[in-house]
Amino acid sequence: MNFILMGLPGAGKGTQAEKIVEKYSIPHISTGDMFRAAIKEGTELGIKAKSFMDQGNLVPDEVTIGIVRERLGKDDCSKGFLLDGFPRTVAQAEALQQILTDLDRKLDAVLNIEVNPEILLARLTGRRICKNCGATYHLIFNPPAQEGICDKCGGELYQRSDDNEETVGNRLEVNIEQSKPLLDFYLKLDLVKTVNGEQEMDAVFADIDAMIRG
Ligand code: AMP
Repeated sequence: MNFILMGLPGAGKGTQAEKIVEKYSIPHISTGDMFRAAIKEGTELGIKAKSFMDQGNLVPDEVTIGIVRERLGKDDCSKGFLLDGFPRTVAQAEALQQILTDLDRKLDAVLNIEVNPEILLARLTGRRICKNCGATYHLIFNPPAQEGICDKCGGELYQRSDDNEETVGNRLEVNIEQSKPLLDFYLKLDLVKTVNGEQEMDAVFADIDAMIRG
């Protein structure tokens, strides 16, 4: 049960990760979460990672690979793991192969949640927030009863500046470019299992579940 979860922002990775780790009782190992926790605790790792994260850059490979090596060696990973946000570069993917060889383990699959980038753009730009009470809505998934008006308090709804099409579009493009060589790496190893992420979340999970059971 050694899995990597891949998918662009908005593809529903977080939701599916929760369901997978619950059903299969394996730890969810998110490098982003690990860095955020280290920053919160003010550890040396956190201090190192923060400057890169604040600028929207990747944390250097030697730091990232080191924390993954340590984490995968912990007892709770003996039954398996779900890696999320790692690897992000081919160098990380190669390092992971070595880590797993050293641990006498191997990857079972790279679960790839696929959603058309245009749909992702709509998902990611659809968020609206009430100026008055802060309630959040989504134009597609959770629309207010009356357009532009908060159901709870009647306040005006607005779009956060970093949810605009240009910023979200850039983020998507960067992610697409980053993930291509990784997908190629795992396609060559015949490990990629792609699921249609444009379905309802329960249907996406049913597909992932079927894939895991083989
Ligand atoms: P995430 O929550 O996965 O979007 O990660 C948040 C940030 O943590 C990223 O923008 C990077 O700065 C850093 N990060 C997370 N995972 C990695 C990784 N595998 N390699 C390098 N940096 C990472």
